[in-house]
Amino acid sequence: MFMRVDKLLIELPMPKKQDPNAGAALQELLGGKYGEMSTLNNYMYQSFNFRSKSKLRAIYDIVASITAEEVGHVELVANGVAMLNNGPDGDETGGTDISDAPFSAMQDIRLAASFLSNGGGAMPVDSNGLPWNGTFVTTSGNVIMDMLFNFHLECGARIHKLRVYETMTEPTGREVCGYLLVRGSVHAHAYALVLKKLTGVSIEKMLPVPNIDLGRIPECQKYLAAGRHRWLYTNSPSDYKAMAGIWGNGETALPGDPPGELEVVEGVPDGGKIPDLNGLASAFTPEYAPEEMFEIAQKLYAASR
Ligand code: MN
Ligand code: MN
Repeated sequence: MFMRVDKLLIELPMPKKQDPNAGAALQELLGGKYGEMSTLNNYMYQSFNFRSKSKLRAIYDIVASITAEEVGHVELVANGVAMLNNGPDGDETGGTDISDAPFSAMQDIRLAASFLSNGGGAMPVDSNGLPWNGTFVTTSGNVIMDMLFNFHLECGARIHKLRVYETMTEPTGREVCGYLLVRGSVHAHAYALVLKKLTGVSIEKMLPVPNIDLGRIPECQKYLAAGRHRWLYTNSPSDYKAMAGIWGNGETALPGDPPGELEVVEGVPDGGKIPDLNGLASAFTPEYAPEEMFEIAQKLYAASR
């Protein structure tokens, strides 16, 4: 089962300007073939379908715990998209003249539906608005094939993150990419180690794929300095600890990254604040009379305490 924590994996800087085309680029990392919806659903269905869980406990634990991290990645990218679509928060009480085409600029954005249909929110679609779909999921029933697919998926996800990063000037989107490049490296490394334990092939020697030095990406530095390239979280209060037999056990960071032993970290990352984006009264979010809604919500909150 799943439990939810009301935090984002990291704190994201608020955009300095509204940039829905950057939001559209970031959508590739959400609903693209190699996006977070794909990593999430691949590992989630593989973990549901996993045979011989008790005999293959360490491997099952890796797939199951990374599944939970990928939900957090979906949440992180979705918040990044909404922040870029929204821009710095302004006045939420409305007052804009709706007869004066206040959103005329939205006709020219790459994904017009992100405003017209989704009010600036994120959707499980790629950078061209094509919907994510379940055919991106591979769950073959053969553990080695699935782990090979996962290794490929994480490497593919990294190359997409790098390309999206290279289009970005906005700090919000760059932070999302920088963090996910570090975590994608961890996941590719984890699946490589599973394949090594199962077959004896040192597939981790192929890493990093793509061959980029994270040291050259400013947004990665604080995560590398904190050791996040060496940590795999259990994402659970007490389960999935057996993955330490694979992630750990004398294995070390990839050459080129800051050195150190691989470590299983129990629980979830500290996380950061979930951004509290204001409504756009002229776009009917939350509604034409936001003050009344806020008053009702405050009464409901007071009644809950
Ligand atoms: Mn991910
Ligand atoms: Mn991943």
